[in-house]
Amino acid sequence: MPGENGPPAFSDAFTSARLAMVETQLRGRGIRDERVLAAMARVPRHRFVSAERASAAYEDHPVGIGEGQTISQPFMVASMVEAAEIQPADVVLEVGTGSGYQAAVLAELAAEVFTIERVPTLGASAQRLLAHLGYANIVVAIGDGSEGLRQYAPYSAIIVAAATPSIPQELVEELRENGRLVIPVGDAEEQELQVVRKLSAGPRVENRYACKFVPLIGRFGFSRS
Ligand code: SAH
Repeated sequence: MPGENGPPAFSDAFTSARLAMVETQLRGRGIRDERVLAAMARVPRHRFVSAERASAAYEDHPVGIGEGQTISQPFMVASMVEAAEIQPADVVLEVGTGSGYQAAVLAELAAEVFTIERVPTLGASAQRLLAHLGYANIVVAIGDGSEGLRQYAPYSAIIVAAATPSIPQELVEELRENGRLVIPVGDAEEQELQVVRKLSAGPRVENRYACKFVPLIGRFGFSRS
């Protein structure tokens, strides 16, 4: 049998790296939502990066996924997903599919996840991998997510995984009442993570902390440089 009397199978090494990541990088730094911690303990993050980078998947930084894009640092994913306060019946939109990793984490917590990606090759490989891993509640769309994804709206929560110069109004419109939009807003160098809650009296914006994301490129994002 593979692994017997020999070094542990790769999956075991990855599992222990993943559990260590959850304890040290997430719980250790203040992520409190047990459902988020459990979801990130389950999703095999190393599968969302290339084989050569698999060993870096559980390290405390973003990792390149090709096309100049990155899979976000584990803490950023946990912190955005926690801020979105996902409930089991929620329908969620993610803007910026990238590798598909955050979509998988969201799919562990929500009823349905829609995710939109600008770069067709990234969207296609994320879709293949998510299907292969058995995620049946995720739909990957290709397009400019700065314009939202009206077709499946309204959403209980929207997470934007790329930097925006300002909050795209269409995204607020696509939220349900009491819906949450988690979005990094600022210039190309640095952003503030903002949480917008759509209350009946109007949207309430809360600033969380400074962060740095790749740019959202599109009509209500940055123009292609
Ligand atoms: N959530 C991803 C990481 C996202 S990186 C993960 O878990 O791996 C940001 C992604 O946003 C990149 O893949 C980039 O191509 C995409 N992106 C940039 N502008 C976009 C736009 N206007 N609409 C949709 N996706 C966009």
